[in-house]
Amino acid sequence: MCAGKRFSIKKPTKWWVVTSLRRQRWQVERFNREMSSQGRDDPPSPLPLTVSFEHSTVKFTVSRELPVSPIVYCLDAPMTPATATLIDIHGLSFAEVEAWVLARGFKPGNISRLWGHLHRDLATSFDEMTELPRKLRAILQQHFFLNLPTVTLATDSSDGHTRKYLLQLWDQQTIETVEMHFTGRHTACVSSQAGCAMGCVFCATGQAGFSRHLTVGEIVAQVLHVQRALRTRGEKLRNIVLMGMGEPLHNYDAVLAAVDILCDCRGLALGGRRITLSTVGIVPGIRRLADEKRPVNLALSLHGATDADRTSLVPVGKRWPLAELMDACRYYSEKLRRRIFYEWTLIDGVNDSVEHAHSVGRLLQGQDAQVNLIPLNLTVGYDGRPGRSDAAVRFQAILTEYDLPSTVRQRRGIDIAAGCGQLRAAEAVR
Ligand code: SF4
Repeated sequence: MCAGKRFSIKKPTKWWVVTSLRRQRWQVERFNREMSSQGRDDPPSPLPLTVSFEHSTVKFTVSRELPVSPIVYCLDAPMTPATATLIDIHGLSFAEVEAWVLARGFKPGNISRLWGHLHRDLATSFDEMTELPRKLRAILQQHFFLNLPTVTLATDSSDGHTRKYLLQLWDQQTIETVEMHFTGRHTACVSSQAGCAMGCVFCATGQAGFSRHLTVGEIVAQVLHVQRALRTRGEKLRNIVLMGMGEPLHNYDAVLAAVDILCDCRGLALGGRRITLSTVGIVPGIRRLADEKRPVNLALSLHGATDADRTSLVPVGKRWPLAELMDACRYYSEKLRRRIFYEWTLIDGVNDSVEHAHSVGRLLQGQDAQVNLIPLNLTVGYDGRPGRSDAAVRFQAILTEYDLPSTVRQRRGIDIAAGCGQLRAAEAVR
């Protein structure tokens, strides 16, 4: 349960937007200069910005003309009117809602109606909850608020497969949430923290550092936000991946409480097998998932198959060396009879050679494992290049020799900075 806090937000002004856009262009130009000084030509050229206003008191839209991907500034949602005395109702479990409603003398039938309004109808105000008695709605309004994220930026990839949101929280922290669409399957990639303390060298979130853990309600609200967006197009959310900003096992209690709410069969009713939690290798968290028999999929960011290789990319490898990490993974697999998905970011000349592939094969041979090879997303703070496609094919062939299934992920959303933390980093520099 988390109490909201008092805050004040300045309404965006024309000056604020124009200044922000100028800063963004400056950041793109600086990025391009850095890339061209290193002989790279991947990033798009900066283009003149076209700014148009539909200005009402708090609503206007600014579009930036790009050849492939429109960027739309959505500053149209007022911030959540949280006050010190209100509680985020999306952060409560069914049992907590039930206890609260019964303690105030309302009939038990109201509980599942309220829960349905919150998690199936995706209500955006208590006034919409017309199946509840007026007296209950009034009292709910006095004690709770609905966590409706404020979208400060929404971008669509040119291939139409990805939409990325930059969401602003009550304390001005920003987080990223991504909608991904693959042949009829819609997936939400959500954040578990504002920033991240793990410091993976190639990750924009890690480069920016840690701000704070997200609350249960803030994690649930991201999923409901995507579900609302899909519903307007007659579509439905199928999967959730906790692969956005943050290390989910560093915020274990809030993340797993949110998972429980999302899996509740009276609400969104997402099965645990449709939820994937990605960790950089927090050993106590992996063991706890196994001990608590949590029915979620586990993805582990490996990136290096020796301690020296791994810690050069993932500093947390110093705290939990590979031997300890592999013990925990085997414990998890055996206890839950679950396959672990190992993520391997392919970095040209760093971890994509034949020798690297053999060391991954030796490390994981005999485990119920699948390796997902992911070409690196470029970030300003890391001087690495994505692994080439022929190296990926060669890597996969070697893993097959060790009976390890593998996939090569498509690079999606490159044009909208879809890598974890990239959108927020771009916004922060503006
Ligand atoms: S890759 Fe994940 S764990 Fe590593 S710094 Fe980025 S967000 Fe954190």
